[in-house]
Amino acid sequence: MIQVVREDITRLHVDAIVNAANSRLSGGGGVDGAIHRAAGPRLAAACGQLGGCPTGQAVITGGFDLPARWVIHTVGPVWTGGQAGEADLLASCYCTSCQLALAHDVRTIAFPAISTGVYGYPKAEAARIALNCLRDYQPKFERIVICCFSDADRDLYESLLD
Ligand code: ADP
Repeated sequence: MIQVVREDITRLHVDAIVNAANSRLSGGGGVDGAIHRAAGPRLAAACGQLGGCPTGQAVITGGFDLPARWVIHTVGPVWTGGQAGEADLLASCYCTSCQLALAHDVRTIAFPAISTGVYGYPKAEAARIALNCLRDYQPKFERIVICCFSDADRDLYESLLD
C-alpha cells in the first residue's frame, strides 16, 4: 500500500523514515534539520561515525528520540538542469533506501520529497521518479508513506497515483 499524507515526517509512527541528507551527513535545514532536532543529539553522533554518503546512496542509523526505529539517510542530487545524471541518482535514492530498509526488516517506511527543496529538483518530475521506484517495492512492504510538506505536493502525488 502506498499512502500520501501531508505531515511532518518526524511525527510518523513507522519503522523507518527516510532523510534527505547531505553527503557529509552533517545535518542542515529542511527535513534534515527537522529530523536531527526531533531525534536528538545522538543522531548527529551516529552520523558522524559513518564517514559520509555518496549522492544516490543511503546509510542507516537508529531513530533515537523519534517514534521511528530507524532513519535511512539518502543523498539526493542537486538539480543542475537535468544533464548531470540527476534522474538516475534520484531513482537510486529511492531504490537504495528501500533495499536498505528491507535488509533491516522494515515493514513500514516514510519518504519525504527528496531533492525538491533546497536541491531544486522539479517537483513533478521528482514525483514521477519516486513513484516509479516505490510502485516496484510496494509488494515488499506493509505500507509506504509519501510524506508531503505542503498541500500542493500532496495533490501532485495523489494525482499521479490515480
Ligand atoms: P533537499 O536538500 O533534498 O532538497 P529539503 O529538506 O530542502 O531537501 O526538501 C525536501 C522536501 O522535504 C521538500 O519538499 C520540503 O518541503 C520537505 N520537508 C521539509 N521539512 C519537512 C518535514 N519536517 N517533514 C516532511 N517533509 C519536509
